[in-house]
Order: sequence, then C-alpha cells, then structure tokens
Amino acid sequence: MNYCPQCQSSQLVKSGIINKRQRYKCKNCNYNFTVNKIGKKIDQYYVTKALQLYLEGLTYREIERIIGVSHVSVMNWVRKYNIHKVQNTDYHPTYKILNQSELSIYFSKPENTKGAGMIVTELGDKYMVIKWERFKE
Ligand SMILES: [Zn+2]
Repeated sequence: MNYCPQCQSSQLVKSGIINKRQRYKCKNCNYNFTVNKIGKKIDQYYVTKALQLYLEGLTYREIERIIGVSHVSVMNWVRKYNIHKVQNTDYHPTYKILNQSELSIYFSKPENTKGAGMIVTELGDKYMVIKWERFKE
C-alpha cells in the first residue's frame, strides 16, 4: 500500500507519468508527487503519541516539533480518529524532554513533583514529562 508523503492518506490516484515516473495525486489533500516520493507509513507508535499530546493540550506545531511529523499529519489523525479535546482554561501543560538520568534527578527534587499532576511518556529513547500549571489569575 502506498501513502501520501504529506498526509499519509492511502487514497491515491494515478495522474500521468513525468520523467518516466508514475505521478500520483492524493485525493485527501490534493498533493501531487512522483512514485519515489511515496511516503513510508508512519509508525502507529507516533500516531498514538501525537494524539496523546494533542489531548494533553499541546498545539499542532508543538507536536510537530517534539515528534517530528508534520502538523498536517497530526491534524489528519485528529480528524480520522475523531479526537475531541476537552476544553481546559484553568491549566496549561508544560513539558520537558529528559533522558533516564535527567529523569531521576528531576524526580528527586520535591519542588518538581508538588502541586501539579504530571505524566511521563516514553518518546523514542527519551522521556517526556508533561506537567500542568494553573494559569495565574
Ligand atoms: Zn495527501
């Protein structure tokens, strides 16, 4: 199965041959590309992570920066899986990317764990700590 390099949709139609290469058009985002540009299917692991981060309140651009997939892909997954974010105006997430030893140092300091909930999620070979802080009034 082939996928659009821009949005990972598999709804492709052939649209002529350019320089002896088959050209495709994506029916989802209208992107035109030749066969050597066909995107590899993005690992489901990153789809799950991206949707988790989206639910935690991160923006598309932040998710793009952290996971390294285009924000267009993330927007498409949100639509595809019909994800609805809970509106939250009291807290906003802050996050850090830490390796194993930085993570243990982080947790050894009480001021880092007090007063706010947090989750730790694996991200490649590192860890991401997402922590909520109450907006100042
Ligand atoms: Zn597309």
